[in-house]
Amino acid sequence: MSKFIFVRKTAVLAATAALAIGGVAGCAKEDTGGTTESGVPLVKAGALTTCTHLPYAPFQSKDQSGKVVGFDVALIDLVAAKLNVPQEIVDTPFEGIKSGADLNSGKCDVAAAGMTITDERKKVLDFSEPYFDATQALAVVAGSPVKTLEDLAGKRLGVQGGTTGEEYINAQVKEKGLKIEVVSYKDLAAEQQALSTNQVAAAVNDLPVWNEYIKANPGKVEVAAGFDTGEQYGFAVKKGNAELLKTVNEAIAAARADGTYDKIYATWIGEKPAS
Ligand code: GLN
Repeated sequence: MSKFIFVRKTAVLAATAALAIGGVAGCAKEDTGGTTESGVPLVKAGALTTCTHLPYAPFQSKDQSGKVVGFDVALIDLVAAKLNVPQEIVDTPFEGIKSGADLNSGKCDVAAAGMTITDERKKVLDFSEPYFDATQALAVVAGSPVKTLEDLAGKRLGVQGGTTGEEYINAQVKEKGLKIEVVSYKDLAAEQQALSTNQVAAAVNDLPVWNEYIKANPGKVEVAAGFDTGEQYGFAVKKGNAELLKTVNEAIAAARADGTYDKIYATWIGEKPAS
């Protein structure tokens, strides 16, 4: 009899334990994903997780203390503030950002990477309203005779892998039959290093990153030519994440309306071009 009771008690205990485990699992699930007070889903509860590809100053780079700062960071901070959570930044290769893989796998809620809105990327990402206009630029070491793409015949030209700059150059080389050796670097730092150490005769990337590099390293590099590609940057969310996209767009619109955008622009980019 007592044995029977014992068995029953064990069964009850086991059932309670199963419930407890279920409860814990429920909690754990909430820890790895959540929803803000305003109903926006997040891949990790309590934070807005941003994917970016470092370094890409002045849009995102580490400051001396190792904190990631920049134009994009400041704008996404406004989105995070609207959601009442802090922003957490994940550094990851640009390929996974632009392909949608990182957003689809739940690595982050939003991508903010100085990323140009393109028709191809629109197929795999949902972009915010444009938040920045950019062009491509050809940078050379100061005093270089290279002024145009044509001057690069028989020479090496650096680009950054997976970017619109790389696409633009490959298209120009093909279209104009240019005899340029295009060398693709995995990130901006590697490309800039290659230029400053003369491993390439010139390098192409978005104009604002060259302006920033020139500010940080005066007299070393200059912009030889600009290519007006008419690019616009957008933040991206996983396809179909309308709630978060709406919050991102609202934050950008509010910042444009109340002067916050201009302040952030002045801090990270400099004087605003006349529009
Ligand atoms: N604007 C460029 C692009 O979208 C470069 C972005 C980057 O390297 N972070 O391809």
